[in-house]
Amino acid sequence: MDKYAVIGNPVAHSKSPLIHAAFAQQTNQALEYGRVLAPLDGFASTVRELIDQGYQGVNVTVPFKFDAYECADQLSERALKAGAVNTLSFSAQGIVGDNTDGAGLVRDILHNLNLPLQGKRVLLLGAGGASEGVLGPILQTQPTCVHIANRTLDKAVAMVSRAKPNAQANNTVELEACSFADLAGKQYDIVINATSSGLSNEALPLPPDLFADHALAYDMMYGRETPFMHYARQESASLIADGLGMLVEQAAEAFFIWRGVRPETAPVMQAMRAA
Ligand code: NDP
Repeated sequence: MDKYAVIGNPVAHSKSPLIHAAFAQQTNQALEYGRVLAPLDGFASTVRELIDQGYQGVNVTVPFKFDAYECADQLSERALKAGAVNTLSFSAQGIVGDNTDGAGLVRDILHNLNLPLQGKRVLLLGAGGASEGVLGPILQTQPTCVHIANRTLDKAVAMVSRAKPNAQANNTVELEACSFADLAGKQYDIVINATSSGLSNEALPLPPDLFADHALAYDMMYGRETPFMHYARQESASLIADGLGMLVEQAAEAFFIWRGVRPETAPVMQAMRAA
């Protein structure tokens, strides 16, 4: 049977094995999909071991998306733009890296939540692998502005300078980096938490009145209410979404890369919410 896994640290919380098992059943594909905990300084050696054991590919989660980028022999265009990889495919030609996070997030917002991104003011919190992965696809939807706020400002600044040519190609998007303190007095239509603060249950230092009327607060974390979602509720954001839809959509995109079949996401999302 073909073997796949999700690699992370931590990884026990990952729902990817359940999702891929559901996709495999739905599309009659024979495969197994597990969880692999890699040591923080041992991503590349873990990947080599999995290749030796006959794995066909892996999904990559926190904090290894940059390591996965480094470890790929070939990169898709969207992985190159993102500078981060969440899907590796192993073949005789080597390791191919791709990034399906952005496609997953944008599809969840546009199709599942049924909200446009075009013409919206977007705030992206965080400048790690997940944020890098979603920036390019968000810019392609032509929002009015994308501001990136990060605890370590330099990382957000570097991210903006790498993405500027892409933003300019999408004509009028205003792309800026800032600190959390700079957010005072600003308002956004869509605020996306792409930090890992929810994993450690930490609140972000966000000011009041950040949400415009009819705003969406989107947390990439899933499975429980995070401090960011709690803040959004207190601030009366119109719609609060967790990252389950993104997770299922990015997984479907990875499944398509590996198996050449696109699974239906709606029934899998429904089953996971019910569970
Ligand atoms: P990384 O480790 O690459 O980046 C972490 C980011 O979070 C950095 O910007 C870091 O800031 C910031 N951060 C961490 N803790 C805090 C804190 N206490 N206060 C403020 N900022 C903080 O992780 P990823 O980008 O890979 O993942 C981020 C999150 O997104 C994770 O929770 C992950 O589970 C989720 N995710 C969900 C997906 C889905 O499909 N739903 C897909 C991908 C990711 P600094 O630079 O200052 O360290």
